[in-house]
Amino acid sequence: MSAVKETIVQAVDRLAGDLEDLSRTIHDNPELGYQEVKAAGWLTEFLSKQGFKVERGVADVPTAFRATLETGQGPTIAIMCEYDALPAIGHACGHNVIAAVGAGAGAALAAARDRLPKGRIQVIGTPAEEGGGGKVKLLRGGVFRDVDAAMMVHGWAAWVPHQDLLGIVRVGFEFTGKAAHASAYPWDGVNALDAVIQTFNNVSMLRQQMRPDARIHGIVTHGGAAPNIIPEFAAATFYVRAPRLDSVWDLHRRVVACAEGAARATGCTLKVIERQETAYEPFKRNPALVEAFRTNLMTFGVTESPEDKEHLGSSDVGNVSQVVPTIQPLVKIAPAGTPIHSRAFEAAAVSPLAREGLLIATKALALTAYDVLADTALLARIRGEFAAG
Ligand SMILES: [Zn+2]
Ligand SMILES: [Zn+2]
Repeated sequence: MSAVKETIVQAVDRLAGDLEDLSRTIHDNPELGYQEVKAAGWLTEFLSKQGFKVERGVADVPTAFRATLETGQGPTIAIMCEYDALPAIGHACGHNVIAAVGAGAGAALAAARDRLPKGRIQVIGTPAEEGGGGKVKLLRGGVFRDVDAAMMVHGWAAWVPHQDLLGIVRVGFEFTGKAAHASAYPWDGVNALDAVIQTFNNVSMLRQQMRPDARIHGIVTHGGAAPNIIPEFAAATFYVRAPRLDSVWDLHRRVVACAEGAARATGCTLKVIERQETAYEPFKRNPALVEAFRTNLMTFGVTESPEDKEHLGSSDVGNVSQVVPTIQPLVKIAPAGTPIHSRAFEAAAVSPLAREGLLIATKALALTAYDVLADTALLARIRGEFAAG
């Protein structure tokens, strides 16, 4: 390892306690998407202490930020942080670790700033990954316009240098019927809950004709006020996923048809709530950038796991990957087999295993950012692969 790289790695070791504290503090104070005021505050305070120039509220998103370290004219590398929690189960997606790794990688590069090649390191705070589409807003606001390569990590139960993501579209259905006494005047009512139930039945039938890599899942968000009132209003939200965005929209059209059929059958009126701003794109893989990360990761002696083709999720980092060469390697912070979005994963996200994963990932990510700045042939390969699609 070169002397500069040694300096970067040593900086992570020196900051280890601070990074673990940052991760734990965010974990123990879970904030939902677009409400991550405390987390954004702690991260920007930390980065500003490390010598970054901090802009808060970029792209008109109050809890977003951009922290820049500039050493001259050259490539711009974006290191992304997420820090939103889930409703009811807190940091069960481990975004506290993502935040600490991103800020830590920035800090480690800042520690070697006098010897960094010319360019820009930007640590970008991206709120509301869990359904809110923070990165979609930042993309629209031009935050990634001058970025040459973007990177972040995500917690997982194994080390996986690249994992695909499914595209996702979210859609809401609101049915309006007519209230009536459910015992005395049932024939006067129009049952909006029946329309919701029929939508689920229609979707269940659609499932047989779906490709095995697609996913549809929904919840009832309103189901009526009391059993003795025919529900006059009922609502449901569905998520539709597939490996390609055109097939997601295809399936979405069929799910909307399921709700339309249910409205017709029950005599309800239907309002379809489209959530275009939270459509997440699939991941566009950049093998050169993945390989650069993988090479750095291997110097820390971790055991790599193959890509998990079965347990796929979605993220707004997919949208970033369609615009800028991007990686999101998975970091082992939980025992093998622990599913994300579970209470076990929430507990694991501050365990000793998570500390170990956090520190190794911070080193590997900082070294990869350094490589992209220093190695013009690597950046050319990354750009070539991106252009080739
Ligand atoms: Zn999640
Ligand atoms: Zn997540």
